[in-house]
Amino acid sequence: SLINSKDQLLRERAASVIPGGMWGHMATRYLGSAYPQFFERADGCRVWDVDGREYIDLMCSWGPNILGHHHQAVEQAIERQRRLGDAMNGPGEVLVELAELLVETVAHADWAMLQKNGTDATTACVTIARAGTGRRKVLVARGSYHGAVPWCTPSLAGVTTEDRAHLIHFDYNDVASLEAAVEQAGNDLAAVVVTAFRHDIARDQELPTAAFAKRARELTTAADAALIVDDVRAGFRIDLAGSWEPLGVRPDLSAFSKAIANGYPLAAVTGNDRFREAATKVYVTGSFWYGAVSMAAAVATIKTLRDTKAIATMNAAGERLRSGLDAAARKHGLSLRQTGPVSMPMVLFDGDAEFQKADAFCAAALREGAYFHPKHNMFLSAAHTDRDIDLALQAADAGMAAAAQVA
Ligand code: PMP
Repeated sequence: SLINSKDQLLRERAASVIPGGMWGHMATRYLGSAYPQFFERADGCRVWDVDGREYIDLMCSWGPNILGHHHQAVEQAIERQRRLGDAMNGPGEVLVELAELLVETVAHADWAMLQKNGTDATTACVTIARAGTGRRKVLVARGSYHGAVPWCTPSLAGVTTEDRAHLIHFDYNDVASLEAAVEQAGNDLAAVVVTAFRHDIARDQELPTAAFAKRARELTTAADAALIVDDVRAGFRIDLAGSWEPLGVRPDLSAFSKAIANGYPLAAVTGNDRFREAATKVYVTGSFWYGAVSMAAAVATIKTLRDTKAIATMNAAGERLRSGLDAAARKHGLSLRQTGPVSMPMVLFDGDAEFQKADAFCAAALREGAYFHPKHNMFLSAAHTDRDIDLALQAADAGMAAAAQVA
C-alpha cells in the first residue's frame, strides 16, 4: 500500500473501527505490503483497487468469480429477480427451479437445500449425517479447510475441546490412515468429510487417488455412514456433475458454494435418498437463505457453465498460464512446482521454505498489473482470455526477475 494512498487512508480508518483492521482470509496483513486491501470495482477477470490500479485477477474473489464479473446472462437474471423481490416471506419459484437444476446436474443428488456460505453447507452436511446415522464421530483430513465455525475453524482461539470432541483425523490420500480412523470411530461413525482434492494452504496440491476415493466410499458404505465431499472450493471448476464424478465415486452429501452463483451469496447441500429423511428432520436456516436474487444468479450461472463449456475454457487458460509460468521461471533460472487442476493453480518455488521468492514474485507482478497469491491456490475464470493470460505472464516475467534476486 502506498504512503498517502486511498488504500492507506482507509486502512488507518479501519484500524480503529475494525478489529485488526480486517478479519479473515481477505486480510492483506498476511500478504506483502504491495497488496491493496480495498477495491473499487471489478469487471470480467479484472479488478481495480481504490487507487485506480488495474489488475488481471488470478484469485477470482477466492473462487466465486467463475464466469467473469458482470457476466450478462447472470446480470440479466438478477435484475429480473431484483425487480420481482429478493428476501420475502418465503422463497420464490426460482428455488424449485434451482433445486431441479442441481438434481439434474450433480450426479449423486436426489435433493438439494440452500444456504449462504460454504461453512453453512459443510456444517449442515455434518448435522444431516449425524441425524441420519444417530452417531457422533466425524473424520476429517489433517489440514483440510471446511469453514470457520468451532467444529472446523483452523484457529483454536475461542474454541473448546468439547467442540472438537468427536473429530478424528486422517491424512489425505492415505488409505491406511483412513482405515485406522474408521477403526477408531468404531460403531460411532457418522461421516467421513473430504475435500474434492487436497488444496491446503502453502503446500503442493494433490488430486485424490482413485484408491483413496474408492476406499472412502467402501468404508462409509460398509459402516452405513455418510461420505461427504466438500466441493465448496472446487465445485463447478472440475466437473459440473461433482468433482469426484470422474473418479466414479459418488458421495452421499456434497457441500457447494463459492462459484455456484458467480459471486452472489449462495451455498448448497446436495444429497441422496439415504439422507433425505435426516435432511427433513434437522433444523437449519438463516435470515437470508431464501433470497431469490442469488438463486436466480445460480440458475443462470450453472446453465451458462453447462451451455458454454466453461470448464474447457478455464482449463485452456490454466494450461496457458502454467506453461507460460514454467517458461518464465526457466528463463530466470528458477524452478517451480505447479500442482493440482490447471484451472486452480498452486504455484510454489523450489527452495523457498520462507516464501521469500513467492513474496518477491507477487509484489513485482502486482506492480505490473497481475494479482497472484504467494501460497494459496488461485482460481481462473471463463473470462480469462488468451490476451489476459499473456498480460498476466508479462507481469509474471517481472515477478520472476524479482524472485531470482532473492538469495
Ligand atoms: N470448504 C472449503 C473447501 C473451502 O475452500 C471453504 C472456503 N474457503 C469453505 C469450506 C468455507 O466456505 P465459506 O468461507 O464460504 O464459509
